[in-house]
Amino acid sequence: MSDRIEQARAELRSQIDAKVSSYFSSCIHCGLCAEACHFHVETGDPRYTPIYKLEPMRKLWRSEHTLSGRFSKLLGRSTELSEQDFADWEELVYDSCNLCGRCSMVCPVGIDIAYMLRKQREAFNLSGYTPEGMRNALQRTLTTGSPMGVTLKTLQATLAHVEKASGLTIPIDRQGADFMALFSSMEVVNFPEYIASVARIFDTAGVSWTISSEAFEATNAGIQIGSREGAKEIVSRAVNAAEKLGVNYLISPECGHAYTAIRWEGPNLIGRRYRFEVIHILELLDQLMREGRIRFNGKSDTPMTLHDPCQIVRRGGVIKAPRNLLHQVASGFVETTDHGSMNWCCGGGGGVSANERAEALRLKVFGRKKKQFEESGVDTVVTACANCRIVLEEGLEHYEMDTEVIGLTELVAEYLEQGAD
Ligand code: SF4
Ligand code: SF4
Repeated sequence: MSDRIEQARAELRSQIDAKVSSYFSSCIHCGLCAEACHFHVETGDPRYTPIYKLEPMRKLWRSEHTLSGRFSKLLGRSTELSEQDFADWEELVYDSCNLCGRCSMVCPVGIDIAYMLRKQREAFNLSGYTPEGMRNALQRTLTTGSPMGVTLKTLQATLAHVEKASGLTIPIDRQGADFMALFSSMEVVNFPEYIASVARIFDTAGVSWTISSEAFEATNAGIQIGSREGAKEIVSRAVNAAEKLGVNYLISPECGHAYTAIRWEGPNLIGRRYRFEVIHILELLDQLMREGRIRFNGKSDTPMTLHDPCQIVRRGGVIKAPRNLLHQVASGFVETTDHGSMNWCCGGGGGVSANERAEALRLKVFGRKKKQFEESGVDTVVTACANCRIVLEEGLEHYEMDTEVIGLTELVAEYLEQGAD
C-alpha cells in the first residue's frame, strides 16, 4: 500500500467526528438534497446528488463505525478505499460543489451536508488530491498575500487612481481608526469602482476608517480548498493587522466566502476571540442609512433583481440589509423565485471559479441562474460579491443574454445625497 493512500485514509478518518458520524447514520436516503443542488438539477446526473459526493467518507465511516461494516471486514469483503477512489472522487469533491449549503437547507433530518463536504475537502487537500488552479491560488495567497498576486504596490496604484478621480484621500495605516476595510483582489483589479464607492460613502457619513498595508486581502483560498492551516494563516494576518491598528470593527467586503472565513470560522481557526467586531459592508451601509448618516437623492427606475451570494446570505445571515438598501435606491426592484436563503448559487463559489478544469460544468449549471433571471423578467442583476459578479458576467455572456450585472455598494454610492449628516 502506498504512503499516499495510507495518508489519505488517515486524513479522512480524522475528519469523522461525532457530528459526521451521526449525520451518516441519520440519512434516510430520501434524495431531497438532489433536487436542491444545481449540479444535479441541471445535469440530471445522479453522481451530483449531494450526499453521494461524500461517498469516500461514508465508505470509511461504514467500514469502521458500523456493525455491518465491521462484519463485512471479518468476512474478508474489503470496502477499503483505494487510490483510484480518491483520484476518481477528486472531481466530484471540487468541481461539482460550491459549498453553497442549499442542500443542507432541505434535508428533512437536518444533515449539514455542506459542513461534511468541507471536512472531506480537508482530507483530500492534506493528501494532495486537489485541482491545480485552487492549489496555486492558495500558494499565491500564502506567498504574495493574494490569490491573484495583488501586492501592496498594485493596491496603491489602484488607490492613486481612485483618489485622483474622487479628490478624496484614502487612509492607510491610520492608528486608532474606528473601522479597517478589507478588499478582495478582484475588487482591486476588476472593480476599483467598489473601492471608490466605499471611499465616497464613508466620507459622506463621516466614518473613521483605514486600510492596513500589512493585510488588505479578504479572499481566503484556504477555506475554499479545505486547508485549515492555510485558512488560519490568512485570517491571522487580517486579525493581527486590525489589532495592531486598534480598530473597533473589521469590514468584510463584497466577497462571499471571505465573510464566512473572517466572521464565522476565524475565531475557531485561530483559537481565540478577536479584540474587534466583524461587520459586512452591507450591514454597515444599512446601519449608516438607519442612523441617517447616509441619505439618497432619487432612485433608479430600471427594473432589477438581486442575486444573493450564498456565503453572505444563506450561510452568513445577511438577508435584510441588501433588500433594505435596494428598496431605497431602486423603485423597480423585484425578487427572483427562490430568493433570499434559498437562492441558487452562481456556480463559482467554493473555489470552482478558480478551477479551470470545472469551467464547462460550471457554465452548464449556470443554466439554473439563466432560467431564474429569465423568469424575473428584468435585465439588470445586482449582487454583492465580486466573485459572483465575474461568474455571472461569464455565464450571461456564454448564454448570450443581454443582462447587466452591477454591484450593490456602487448603486448605493450612485444615489448618495452629498452632505448628509
Ligand atoms: S453545497 Fe451546494 S453545490 Fe455543494 S452539494 Fe450542496 S447544493 Fe450542491
Ligand atoms: S436530503 Fe438528507 S436524508 Fe435525504 S438523502 Fe439527502 S442527506 Fe440523506
